[in-house]
Amino acid sequence: MSLTLYKKKRSFKKTPEPAGKKKSSSKSKLRFVVQKHDATQLHYDFRLEMEGVLKSWAVPKGPSLNPDDKRLAMMVEDHPYDYRTFEGTIPEGNYGAGTVMVWDEGVYEAMGYDDESTKDQEKILLAELKKGDVKIVLHGEKLKGAFALVKIQKSVSSGKTGENAWLLIKKKDDAASETDITKKDKSVRTKRSLAQIAKDTGGKVKTKAAARKTKTAPLLLNESEEIPVKKKLRK
Ligand code: MN
Repeated sequence: MSLTLYKKKRSFKKTPEPAGKKKSSSKSKLRFVVQKHDATQLHYDFRLEMEGVLKSWAVPKGPSLNPDDKRLAMMVEDHPYDYRTFEGTIPEGNYGAGTVMVWDEGVYEAMGYDDESTKDQEKILLAELKKGDVKIVLHGEKLKGAFALVKIQKSVSSGKTGENAWLLIKKKDDAASETDITKKDKSVRTKRSLAQIAKDTGGKVKTKAAARKTKTAPLLLNESEEIPVKKKLRK
């Protein structure tokens, strides 16, 4: 597990994001975070702690509690463990420029192995990751219960999704629901909306999708601003 790619993409003199180290001990429970990221395209970054770093996927539509939804999740570079608390604005001109909210967080376990030690669960999770079929149980404020991350087979995925395309799917259990969980759009850490975080940290709401879900601070909305559509999804 390496943070080389993470570091290569960023200039830590110019972005408030953590430069990051690996977490040393793994005695405590494994943690996950979902960060809402108002970049060129609004998306949610789904991150699972494994081996002291955060395995990361960018989910354009965000997670769903409905087992019928299969949400595209593009695997991106590992992020440092410290990143899970990052909330603020990545300045323009930097990689992933835009405002980041800690949308959900909590502990998680390898499904069916919650009695095992954290270390053994990590081993199981890493093996599942390699196989492209990760089964987890989340204990967040918004996301609860069993989820699967399933890698789309090369033969199935089209050229545009490539090798990093996965699906995030809610498994059927008591926490499954048809309610749109992304309507809950405040930070679990600070209870702020994206617009409030942007205002507090020198940013502005970029995407219409982000602005639409934000009832407060309509003054930050600049409807005339063109959203560049040709750019690739920022991680
Ligand atoms: Mn992102």
